[in-house]
Amino acid sequence: MSQSLIGKTALVTGGSRGIGRAIAQGLAREGATVALTYNASRAGADETIAAIEAAGGQAFALQADLVDAGAIPALFEKLDGELLARHGAKRLDILVNNAGNAGWGGLPDATPDGWDTLFAVHARAPFFMIQSALDRLADGGRVINISSALATRPMPVVPIYSMAKAGINNLTHALAMELGPRGITVNAVAPGWTRTDMNTAVHENAEMVKSIEADTALGRFGEPADIAQVVAFLASDQGGWITGQVIEATGGYKL
Ligand code: NAP
Repeated sequence: MSQSLIGKTALVTGGSRGIGRAIAQGLAREGATVALTYNASRAGADETIAAIEAAGGQAFALQADLVDAGAIPALFEKLDGELLARHGAKRLDILVNNAGNAGWGGLPDATPDGWDTLFAVHARAPFFMIQSALDRLADGGRVINISSALATRPMPVVPIYSMAKAGINNLTHALAMELGPRGITVNAVAPGWTRTDMNTAVHENAEMVKSIEADTALGRFGEPADIAQVVAFLASDQGGWITGQVIEATGGYKL
């Protein structure tokens, strides 16, 4: 792929760190103008923008706490203003629902408030992000949801998170049918263990890393760029015949 997204616009939630930052960088490298969102890490968002601009790309950041449903319409109003100013149109080509907080905590310690917070950011926000994007999304556009391998192989230490990600897989299937007539593809990418702040306690534990690597066909811990490459492919013209799919990108974990 080479600059296949020139002239396109992308919105990546949670682009201030981790996988979202790598996705934003990957789409910008292909030529898209990237709007990235952050919640608390303005400095992280600025670092992503600086890295994109240093590589010759274009990006800007918008703040939104996606646990708050009311933040989503406000986010799209800000996005409209920025895109109109930069491109003269509020057209969006690519929406990547990536933002998410860590979901550690098993059944004994779960609370309804914790459940609501996890579902708000991992399941409700992507749903209403897509709803708000509908009249901005170009025909032939892309929706890419970041799921997790845990959606289909849940772990007891993260039952609520696993449930929310299973919901994302289901939503991906349903919306691919809904948006297909407009040529919009809807897919999910399901990472496995990927080195980010979300699992610092795991990737800094040599024994755990060794055990994960032993259970991974490709024999190493995942990196954000591994996921970003899959997203860039789905966003490209070459990925245009794939829709309604959950693409597991785990290096072959627990095959
Ligand atoms: P991360 O490094 O912790 O980054 C999380 C990102 O989401 C940050 O940009 C953060 O913004 C944003 N975010 C968190 N809570 C938010 C909220 N309430 N409102 C708006 N934005 C919020 O996490 P990551 O590992 O890159 O995870 C990205 C996605 O990949 C998530 O959906 C996660 O479930 C999924 N995933 C990750 C792994 C893995 O092993 N890392 C595996 C499978 C799936 P701030 O920086 O402003 O806080």
